[in-house]
Amino acid sequence: MNSPDSSQPTADSPRPKLPWAEIDTVFLDLDGTLLDKHFDDYFWEQHLPMVYAGRHRLPPGQAREELLAIYRSVENTLAWTDLHYWSNRLGLDVCAEKRQVSHLVGIHPHVDSFLTFLNAIGKRPRLVTNAHPEALRIKLDKVPIGHHFAGIICSQEIGLAKEQPEFWPALGQATSYDPARTLFVDDTERVLDSAAAGGLRYLVHIARPSSRQPARFSSRFPSISSFAELLPPTFNNECPRAAAG
Ligand SMILES: [Mg+2]
Repeated sequence: MNSPDSSQPTADSPRPKLPWAEIDTVFLDLDGTLLDKHFDDYFWEQHLPMVYAGRHRLPPGQAREELLAIYRSVENTLAWTDLHYWSNRLGLDVCAEKRQVSHLVGIHPHVDSFLTFLNAIGKRPRLVTNAHPEALRIKLDKVPIGHHFAGIICSQEIGLAKEQPEFWPALGQATSYDPARTLFVDDTERVLDSAAAGGLRYLVHIARPSSRQPARFSSRFPSISSFAELLPPTFNNECPRAAAG
C-alpha cells in the first residue's frame, strides 16, 4: 500500500482497497485527519497573533511575523504541540485562548460513519496524536468521538513527536501492535514517512485536512479527500456536508 506511485492521484482516482482481513490495528491521526484543520490554522495564524499584538502593543502584521518565526523554530518537535510551552514562551494563557475559539472545532464529513464502520468490523481504532492532552480535551468536548476508540495516545506520553521515526517502536511500549498488520491514516506526509520507516505497512494520506483549502493529493501514498472513499458504498448513509466552522 505504501509503495511509491509515479502517477499523481486525482479526486477521480480509485479508492484505496484495504485488505481488512490482514489489518489488526488501526491508528488514526486527529487534527486534519478526523477534525477540520481550519480550527488550528485559524487559532495559530489569526487568533493568537491578534492576542499577542494586543498584549505587546505591536502592529498586527509585525506580531504575526514574529509569531510565525517562533513557530518555525520549533516545527516538527514536541514543543510545537505543547500548550504549556507556548503559554510560557508567549506570556499568554494559550489553553484559555483555545477555549475562546473552540466553537470552530469541527469534524470532517463521513468520519463518524468510518469510525462506526471500523467498530462494526471489529477493528477498534486508536487515536495517535501529537495534540497536547489539554488541546485534546477541548476538542473532544466539542466533538464527542472518544467512545469509538480502544485507546488514545498523545505524543507527550511517548516523549517523541510522530515525525520522529523512533516514535513508532516507542509506541509499541504503550500499546502492542504488529506494524506489518497496521493501518495508519494521517494528513502529513512527513509523519507517514516516519511511520513507513517504522515498518507500518498500510498508510493512507488525507488530501484535504482543512475545509478552507483545496485537496492536495500525495504522489507517494494512497491519498483520499474523504473517509467516504474507505467505506463500502452500502455502509455510508451520511449525507455529504461541510465540516463545522
Ligand atoms: Mg494531522
